[in-house]
Amino acid sequence: MAAILSAERPVARKRFVHDEYVELTMHFRCNLKCVHCMIEDTMDWLKPESMQKFEEILAFNVDNARWKGLIFTGSEITLRKDLPELARRAREHGFEHVRIQTHGMRLSSESYCRELVDAGIDEYFVSVTAADAQTHDAITEVPGSFDKTLRGMENLDAFDGVSMMTNTVVTKLSYAQLPAVVERLSHLHRLVQMEFWNYLPMRETDDKDLIASHLDVLPVMRVAIKKARALGRSVEVKNFPECLLGEDRDALDNDQPKLIIDPAFWPEFMRNGFHQCVHHEYCGSKTCLGLNTAYVKKFGWHADVLVPFPKAP
Ligand code: SF4
Repeated sequence: MAAILSAERPVARKRFVHDEYVELTMHFRCNLKCVHCMIEDTMDWLKPESMQKFEEILAFNVDNARWKGLIFTGSEITLRKDLPELARRAREHGFEHVRIQTHGMRLSSESYCRELVDAGIDEYFVSVTAADAQTHDAITEVPGSFDKTLRGMENLDAFDGVSMMTNTVVTKLSYAQLPAVVERLSHLHRLVQMEFWNYLPMRETDDKDLIASHLDVLPVMRVAIKKARALGRSVEVKNFPECLLGEDRDALDNDQPKLIIDPAFWPEFMRNGFHQCVHHEYCGSKTCLGLNTAYVKKFGWHADVLVPFPKAP
């Protein structure tokens, strides 16, 4: 019989507070073709936020001081020529931090890094899909992409005041490499947070056969969490059953900054079908997203291994 888990959740040391950031999708083009891309089917018709919306957010924050940081995202924001100008305007309007979400390839140019840092971009959330060039380039479908991304992060490492985060999407192709990803990036002094996002197919079936079993991922994920923390990095795991993570459950953080995106995105996102679990109705976890539709179809309910948390009195 499974042990009863404590409802009291350990509190992880947080490097960033999601609620202090607003995220703007300012671009929907990319020059990689990652097999796990969440928006590959919608990129062509989702509309990026307008300059008018951008100005509205700046004005709102001047009046209300709601957010400390602004995140530019979408697909690959460094393809926007005016990115430095957008960042300058955000800083001029009182944002303490400007972050970009990027695959990092353009950062392989040292002069481009300097341009972005000088414009006020101080946080870089970089997608690293695997620990070696062969695997990463197979996932991105662009030869040479791993080397450019790594060079970009090494370039950024030389700039005072810069913080880096990584995101590794966990799929059948990548999960075994999670500890090696941590080791491969261990030389980066300004890498302060590593995130491991379990793949979402954005539909009801895993058509690409990318979802890995949580039971296979679990031991590898826990090694990666421990290794990253041993390097002084904070860790965030997304979309993984909380009860499976044991003492590492504090790494699960499914929160996100306030996202401003074309409303047409949300019906697509909800096709994932979150919060499916045989224990959902009485489990006390406030964080867990349970399983999703495609996962259950592929691997079943794991009813014998998922253990609900008692509800707080
Ligand atoms: S909702 Fe289900 S998967 Fe999530 S912690 Fe509770 S029992 Fe585990």
